[in-house]
Amino acid sequence: ERMLDIRQNNCNPMTMKVTYYKKPVHIHQGYMQWLWDTDGRRYLDLFAGVATVSVGHCHPKVTAAAEKQLRRLWHTTSIYMYPTVHEYTDKLAALLPDPLKVVYLVNSGSEANDLAMLMARVHTGNFDIITLRGSYHGGSPLATGLTSNSAYKFPVASGFGCHNTMCPDVFRGPWGGRHCRDSPVQTVRNCSCSQGTIMHVLCFCNCYYHCQANEMYIDQLKEMFATTVPNRIAAFFGEPIQGVGGAVQYPKNFLKETYKLVRERGGLCIADEVQTGFGRTGSHFWGFQGHGVLPDMVTMAKGIANGFPMAAVVTTQEIARSFAKGVHFNTFGGNPVACAIASSVLDTIKEDGSQHISANIGTYLLHELAKLREKYEIVGDVRGKGLMIGVEMVKNKASQEPLPPQDLGEIFEDTKDMGVLIGKGGLYGQTFRIKPPMCITKADADFFLAVFNRALQNYME
Ligand code: PMP
Repeated sequence: ERMLDIRQNNCNPMTMKVTYYKKPVHIHQGYMQWLWDTDGRRYLDLFAGVATVSVGHCHPKVTAAAEKQLRRLWHTTSIYMYPTVHEYTDKLAALLPDPLKVVYLVNSGSEANDLAMLMARVHTGNFDIITLRGSYHGGSPLATGLTSNSAYKFPVASGFGCHNTMCPDVFRGPWGGRHCRDSPVQTVRNCSCSQGTIMHVLCFCNCYYHCQANEMYIDQLKEMFATTVPNRIAAFFGEPIQGVGGAVQYPKNFLKETYKLVRERGGLCIADEVQTGFGRTGSHFWGFQGHGVLPDMVTMAKGIANGFPMAAVVTTQEIARSFAKGVHFNTFGGNPVACAIASSVLDTIKEDGSQHISANIGTYLLHELAKLREKYEIVGDVRGKGLMIGVEMVKNKASQEPLPPQDLGEIFEDTKDMGVLIGKGGLYGQTFRIKPPMCITKADADFFLAVFNRALQNYME
């Protein structure tokens, strides 16, 4: 009976009897904002395969574009030209401001960030990279170095990444430099890894909860530049809104100020738009536009092709010219099927008004979730922009201590059992993440709000 209710999306989660399934979900099929498991249960997908299914599962228009291309040509490599790739790169470049007009196509966000890092080092001749605390830039050996959260680091004794597992936030490569002897709680400010390759900026007051209110971030950054960072750096990577970090937003002008300081030291500014791109933040097509900055490179993946493996780096002619001194080759990058899909995604975003939906439904969700923050002691913060929303869970508002992951898991499972899939994230795993396909409706949002309310109530009881 309950399953029927869920399928029809007309149940009242406040009154319906809940049966707990708590078994792994095996997804069998998807359509737009909906997923079905192998038992035929329907779920409202509010995580979209980590903000990846941008316009909807198996969107008919995108599926048709894929089918058409699959019958025509699957693969050649970039040795040969084919129209699909040119059509797509022209279309994509037209969506970026001057002088960001040179497109490199790869296959994942990690690959895009690896490539951007390499290009920045080649172009500037510098080595050091700066990223932000809470950042996630990928899981490849290089991109793991950019990623700040130590949960994604592996305690290996050599290779790229950290040489000292005691120091989660400052990492150095195998090329020498002093060894870090600091404890996990110390910050980059007083860490002795000043020769380090990748440095993560830390928040002065060490807070996450309501971090966007922390204006001291900029002071800390200036101090770090004055005392710790070498005068010559290769690049700064920043997500316009941190995704895996838990929808963390920066103080006003933080990115603007950072870009200025980085450029004064010869570094390039790289916007990681892997989650924030393609209209997800609602107000702008690209997240960086919301900060009034112009990056030297933009990396993108996830929503670019609605779930098909595809990613890109877009940069300037000048940087591309430096990089052309060597040979860059990528077998699958710019695959014709991926390009046909990505091209259709761009058309669909426009035709379906996806960015608009992001702005409208996102604002509605933020507004309604803020009511739950008032209602429940464990809802510490509600933040984000468009359909990139974080709900930070705390033990209580006074302590602001993160709700333990197992408790968060309980609410997550309950929400899932009632037919809604959301995501988890944050440095302490304390934040729910809501990033649905950009085709959800107000009725879907209301269904989720009722389910989430019920799950919070169940937890509190
Ligand atoms: N950058 C950001 C901001 C991401 O969120 C992710 C993935 N979560 C990546 C890069 C890495 O992308 P991929 O998993 O496709 O390598």
